[in-house]
Amino acid sequence: MKYVFVTGGVVSSLGKGLAASSLGALLEQRGIKVMMQKFDPYLNVDPGTMSPYQHGEVYVLDDGAECDLDLGHYERFTSGVLSRFNNLTSGQVFDTVIRKERRGAYLGKTVQYIPHVTDEIQNRMHEVTKRNPDVDILLTEIGGTVGDIEGHLFLEALRQFALQVGRENVCFIHVTLLPKLRAAGEIKTKPTQQSVAKLREIGIMPDIIVCRVENESELDEENRKKIAMFCNVDEKAVIPFSDVEHTIYEGPLNLRKHFMDRIVVKRLGIDVGKPDISAWEAFVDKVINPKHEIRIAVVGKYIELQDAYKSIYESITHAGAHHSTKVDVLRVDAEDIETKSAKEIIGHVDGVLIPGGFGDRGTEGKILAAKYARENDIPFFGICLGMQIASIEYARNVCDLEGANSTEFDAECAHPVICLQEEQQDLDHKGGTMRLGACESILFSGTLASKLYEEADRITERHRHRYEFNSDYQELLQEKGLTISSVSAKEGLVEIIEIPSHPFYLAAQFHPEFKSKPNLPHPLFAGFIKASLDKKMAEEKAPQS
Ligand code: GLN
Repeated sequence: MKYVFVTGGVVSSLGKGLAASSLGALLEQRGIKVMMQKFDPYLNVDPGTMSPYQHGEVYVLDDGAECDLDLGHYERFTSGVLSRFNNLTSGQVFDTVIRKERRGAYLGKTVQYIPHVTDEIQNRMHEVTKRNPDVDILLTEIGGTVGDIEGHLFLEALRQFALQVGRENVCFIHVTLLPKLRAAGEIKTKPTQQSVAKLREIGIMPDIIVCRVENESELDEENRKKIAMFCNVDEKAVIPFSDVEHTIYEGPLNLRKHFMDRIVVKRLGIDVGKPDISAWEAFVDKVINPKHEIRIAVVGKYIELQDAYKSIYESITHAGAHHSTKVDVLRVDAEDIETKSAKEIIGHVDGVLIPGGFGDRGTEGKILAAKYARENDIPFFGICLGMQIASIEYARNVCDLEGANSTEFDAECAHPVICLQEEQQDLDHKGGTMRLGACESILFSGTLASKLYEEADRITERHRHRYEFNSDYQELLQEKGLTISSVSAKEGLVEIIEIPSHPFYLAAQFHPEFKSKPNLPHPLFAGFIKASLDKKMAEEKAPQS
């Protein structure tokens, strides 16, 4: 087993996750079995309890682990299906150490940062290695920036680990920023030198320096030499990683231009052939050269945040590329629909998507958006909260159930169309207690959902929610034209609803966005984008009035 560690220097939000995933993709294309994981130095046990303002999207794995959104990149860029063991936080490390201490597992010793905490970090590496014996390279990204107090123990653990498994089996990659000072008109290497010096202080000598720059040309010969010399790496191992021009999926191609994968395999003494990057090239080509263009409104609450709906935006890109369509995403703040009108804000779009969410802010705006899409034959796709919103809207406006709502927003509402399952009612812990991870559900044939999933009988999708469609209302809503196209195999909970009389109105209780990949778009996203494209094309053909 070989190990690659990716650290970050100078500033956060460097695109370290993207660089690591791009490298993962290239190594995989060389026929190497790669597994990716992330170490996050914060004290939360997992990001599940964090606000999107703090953390962006919470990515959910098959096993129900609530993870850092970088794990989403890992799953999209490589073929590995990850588990809760692939995201370690300081919260988990300390939790384990303290539990062990209470059990008496340390046999009377003083429990210390070194070795007990650092051992626990290393144990995770061994655990993942043990669970995945067929993996050739374990690629670990360390969250945060070198020099942060909270990351120190992780770096110390890596130093010890490299000593233990043999330095020849480890490749350290440091991703840094080369800032450009406008007044000086040039990029500066000093922050990189200092951050590498900081790493060396801990005892880690990076093998490769990945330099974030706006344009690759900024890292000229002279600067490359300088960085190589000051940071003690080979000149070829100073690699520029520029802002992607069109899509993040250019990442592997950009690194390949500088043979980063070759440098890594050479460093690790792995003898394999060249990578086959044709699938990546083909996908990027589809994104860059679309034949059509449509506009989709994503109506949410955290619309101004880049990362809150990350996997949804990625899934839209995958489905758009699949249909040779550029999707212009209009990010709509649901509260704007409450104060203005649905027509004004989403009257001109080709499709409406309502993503997941928590809390009641903006929900009335989302209900108005769902109503507008339903009444005006605009393709509609609801995800998790989006499905609950669609159900409430249908109950209120088609079934005349005045006061229909979710008990999440109004505990005393007249018609709790969405409510808590019994096992959720008395929970007093918020962390990790939702309905989480992969659940199997049954698809009913003859439905749109069944058609999109190519007539599969059963599907498995990832969940992250507490509230459910209330079965007491199922019959009434069905009588009034709503189709339930999927229910969970175990409990019979409603998983997908649709309106057969509408061109495309479908909503799912699960999160399809966690299973979409660049060359493998999720069928529900692909169907939604196709329906939106069909709508636009039909309008273009129709005689102008
Ligand atoms: N707040 C809703 C629930 O907990 C929806 C969750 C979601 O959209 N992820 O059921």
